[in-house]
Amino acid sequence: AVPTAVMVASGKGAQLGVLIKGGEALQRAGDITTVVLDKTGTITQGAPTVTDFLVAPALAIDADVLLQRVASVEHASEHPLAESIVQHAQAKGLTLGTPESFASVTGRGVQGVVDDAAMAVGNAAFMHDWGISVDALEADAVRLAGEGRTPMYIAMDGALAGLVAVADPIRDSSPRAIADLHALGLTVVMLTGDNERTAQAIARAAGVDRVVAGVMPDGKVREVQRLQDEGAVVAMVGDGINDAPALAQADVGMAIGSGTDIAVEAGDVVLMRGDLQGVVRAIALSRRTMRTMK
Ligand code: ADP
Ligand code: MG
Repeated sequence: AVPTAVMVASGKGAQLGVLIKGGEALQRAGDITTVVLDKTGTITQGAPTVTDFLVAPALAIDADVLLQRVASVEHASEHPLAESIVQHAQAKGLTLGTPESFASVTGRGVQGVVDDAAMAVGNAAFMHDWGISVDALEADAVRLAGEGRTPMYIAMDGALAGLVAVADPIRDSSPRAIADLHALGLTVVMLTGDNERTAQAIARAAGVDRVVAGVMPDGKVREVQRLQDEGAVVAMVGDGINDAPALAQADVGMAIGSGTDIAVEAGDVVLMRGDLQGVVRAIALSRRTMRTMK
């Protein structure tokens, strides 16, 4: 039988916008030592917008022509970064085409042919894959990443052509919630597929203890496992499809309610208000409940 205290706590949780799926999850939440947070859509708002668009100094091409080609390729991708670029181009009144060929490489970028131009858009590792030097725009990328923006290089016909940067602001509620997690004695770690420099800038603003950047989806699972092997009791908080395996691996998976269905299904706890204060509430509620049961 489910103890009355657990039922009462579940009801209280629901009132606070924290949906706890079962008594076991509620009990485990009280033992958590480490909270692992996904960056995009969890610490940040998850709605990136284009802030910068640079054409490589040596290239004689109209910025909007380049943007139109970039957006036409990104149109075939479902990544939030892609969506932000498409929206930016459409807001400028540009008509997008359909790429003749398209390929997307997880954690790296996209490529495709538009108007007979071979386009590639992605991170430094992606450019490296193509043997394209990023030297001409690297200083700009470093500067933008230092401001917490995500820079993506643009290549056209095998040469560096430009740089597009997006900003995904942190949720107003994140720094306070992370401070509250610290006050509960918890270690807070951020995981992201984004680059190290951008990740560090966001981490600093949010106040997390440790950052693991450049991780692929399976890397998120491995990182949770590694922390568990070190003896941590881990809560993983995420919103995306790529967070679902890590949510399942964690001792308690917490999904942002507005996130993808797959994440919400994988979570033991669903944060209905979509802010990290729900994590604080779930853990505090569990600790109080477990104390009254002892
Ligand atoms: P996150 O988990 O932060 O969303 P991803 O693993 O999806 O990160 O992506 C990591 C990096 O790969 C991005 O920061 C970006 O540089 C590059 N990338 C991924 N998808 C795209 C895309 N559609 N267009 C350009 N770059 C991309
Ligand atoms: Mg996310």
